[in-house]
Amino acid sequence: MLTLPRERLMCPELINPAPPYHGAVTSTVTQQAASAQPPVARTYQVRTYGCQMNVHDSERLSGLLEAAGYRRAAEGADADVVVFNTCAVRENADNKLYGNLSHLAPRKQSDPQMQIAVGGCLAQKDRDAVLRRAPWVDVVFGTHNIGALPTLLERARHNRSAQVEIAEALQEFPSTLPAARESAYAGWVSISVGCNNTCTFCIVPALRGKEVDRRPGDILGEIQTLVDQGVLEVTLLGQNVNAYGVSFAADERLREDPAMWSEMPRDRGAFAKLLRACGRIDGLERVRFTSPHPAEFTDDVIEAMADTPNVCPALHMPLQSGSDRILRAMRRSYRAEKYLAIIDRVRAAIPDAAITTDLIVGFPGETEEDFQATLDVVAASRFSSAFTFQYSKRPGTPAAEMPGQVPKAVVSERYQRLIELQEKISLDENLAQVGRTVELLVATGEGRKDAATARMSGRARDGRLVHFGPGAADEPLARRAFDHVRPGDIVTATVTGAAPHHLIADGALLGHRRTRAGDAHAEGRRPRTGVGLGIPGIGAPDPVPATSGCAR
Ligand code: SF4
Repeated sequence: MLTLPRERLMCPELINPAPPYHGAVTSTVTQQAASAQPPVARTYQVRTYGCQMNVHDSERLSGLLEAAGYRRAAEGADADVVVFNTCAVRENADNKLYGNLSHLAPRKQSDPQMQIAVGGCLAQKDRDAVLRRAPWVDVVFGTHNIGALPTLLERARHNRSAQVEIAEALQEFPSTLPAARESAYAGWVSISVGCNNTCTFCIVPALRGKEVDRRPGDILGEIQTLVDQGVLEVTLLGQNVNAYGVSFAADERLREDPAMWSEMPRDRGAFAKLLRACGRIDGLERVRFTSPHPAEFTDDVIEAMADTPNVCPALHMPLQSGSDRILRAMRRSYRAEKYLAIIDRVRAAIPDAAITTDLIVGFPGETEEDFQATLDVVAASRFSSAFTFQYSKRPGTPAAEMPGQVPKAVVSERYQRLIELQEKISLDENLAQVGRTVELLVATGEGRKDAATARMSGRARDGRLVHFGPGAADEPLARRAFDHVRPGDIVTATVTGAAPHHLIADGALLGHRRTRAGDAHAEGRRPRTGVGLGIPGIGAPDPVPATSGCAR
């Protein structure tokens, strides 16, 4: 760990004495707390960049801070602690981070008690360089030690010196940390962290380390905890979910000896077994997962998906390129033919499956012929939607050093052609849904509930976004039923229209089921998971307030 003297920092106020501290790191400060005013909980805000992993990590950061006595800052209010959970994958991620940190510098100057922490992939990559570029930052922590955040904040405050702690390997499976979930009805559940692949465009293995799998009992226990609190849907999360079983770790053994990971025998059927076990959890209505790797996709997973009623008919499987030559250069070990064969088998077993993907255009060395091969596979795959990326150099990745970088203008032109093709396919596939009955888990934050349409939104079982309306103006009963629908409830509706990125269901609802998730959402209750032992606290914890992929 690196500790920089506070005197190095820009703000002269920072050498002023710290106010009384109400935690339990040292006996001295605990004594101060005994004679101080009743503790006022400090507020926090977590700003998240990047993929679902980071979104879920931010839930853990929130849970850790709340377990330590911090309170979530009200919307639009200045927080006492601002945490940046960063991403190193996106283009210009570092410029954006340092720009945002600069915006906070004047505030830090005027309020030295305010603290700024930087974690996540960019912190893991830049380490103490974060403090060289933004010396007003208080804490820098890595992807392997997010559980240290409350301790580091307290240490920075107590010692009046910036704290940098970057662990080289996972110290504790992050799911054992407390998490304050964002959604009352859907939850992320990590099944693994890290990745054993070495895709040449990806920085993830360098920053998140080798794959470590969580034991099935721990995963199922966390799902049960979520379901007990009303959650209806879980998404199993990993960089490469169908490699699950490659290196199970018992948390205690992991802490003692990370080398134990590789000594556990691989269980190749572990992911399919996990899906089937999810099917036996009462009250769990929807199971999703992201993302599988085509190279490791096995038929037992397809069978488990087809046989397990609560596993949703949806598959997100990154293709990246349809050219075998480019896949080889990307170090992705499947080929276009294998990819298409998997899709055929999925559609044979689950005819209504919505299949989505990730695509990169303009990888180094990509010729017009290679690009045409991508268009061909996209046309044959008939994805319901695709996340499309223009290749750009990511420092620290092998591809950034490869010859044959494709000029930006060429990348943009190919990208436009790919978008046009995929939009047409998405629209055709969505038009084929018109007239069907869909079951929707009503969502918040994805809606178009505006004055003009009064629509709400939900996700169909296959993952499609559906905006549904209150029915015709001359159907007062239907409109009244619509008024009682809440995020977290289940409705059924008939699809009446389609666009490339969503469906419309503007008729009267066919059904509405009030759920415990809907109750929880309406009451502002958010699920909590994990345990928080030994976290230094400030004051008493308050009640919980109401509130694309990895590098592929
Ligand atoms: S793109 Fe995904 S599978 Fe490939 S190295 Fe990165 S995290 Fe692993």
